[in-house]
Amino acid sequence: RLSKRLEMIANGVPKGSRLADIGSDHALLPVFLAEQQRISKAVAGEVNEGPFQAASKQVSAAGLSAVIDVRLGNGLEVITAGEVDVVTIAGMGGTLIADILEAGQEKLSGVSLLILQPNVGEYNVRSWLLKKDWILINEQILEEDGKIYEILTAIPSNLAKSSNAELYEPRTLTDGVEVDRELLLTMGPFLLDKPVPAWFHKWHWELDKLNMILHRLSRSAKPESRIKEQELQQELKQIKEVIACLQ
Ligand code: SAM
Repeated sequence: RLSKRLEMIANGVPKGSRLADIGSDHALLPVFLAEQQRISKAVAGEVNEGPFQAASKQVSAAGLSAVIDVRLGNGLEVITAGEVDVVTIAGMGGTLIADILEAGQEKLSGVSLLILQPNVGEYNVRSWLLKKDWILINEQILEEDGKIYEILTAIPSNLAKSSNAELYEPRTLTDGVEVDRELLLTMGPFLLDKPVPAWFHKWHWELDKLNMILHRLSRSAKPESRIKEQELQQELKQIKEVIACLQ
């Protein structure tokens, strides 16, 4: 059985898609989709030999070698431009996901959908999408086995009805609480619209983490610690206000 997290990602892949799953590990996602005949073909990309072997075994054991091509390589270098229409990158840090997209951006020319699931550092993924004018069309958040995951779905601007300017327009919440672009990139424009329990859990955890860092900084004598402290205090205050307002 697929995890709730991978199932949610799978449900975002339109029927009949040609998929590239980058960092596929055991190729669980493409195998699941191919078994259900929900994709016409897939490339499972892996940069590491161990997971590449595991993916190859999984695909041949499932008798799906005609549908899923397992390829060894870094990020998007395993595909050619126009080869796939959906790219999934899941289960790694947001900085790495943004680096993979940046390094392989010319391979994204025919891609109509990105489904990205950073384990941490969602800010970096949203920032990359914004910088390159990919439009977020959905954000989901779920809690599984004590961990919280966000799934960000984006399309190229030429296929979108809305714009990034609208999405990241600073907002004023009900109690006059301001949410600027930085905070939208941090907390998620869609997640802020419809905050669910997992989102509140995440931000309570993040506040605990921020408080811990602030405590450590307060004991440091370095002058630069004071500057960092001020920045983090400000961030903490903003996040607390937003949470209090939406709760
Ligand atoms: N995508 C699967 C999931 O969400 O369950 C597997 C996630 S696993 C934690 C991350 C995988 O990404 C590892 O197998 C790792 O080898 C692979 N990986 C890391 N950097 C990569 C890169 N630059 N290109 C391709 N794969 C990469």
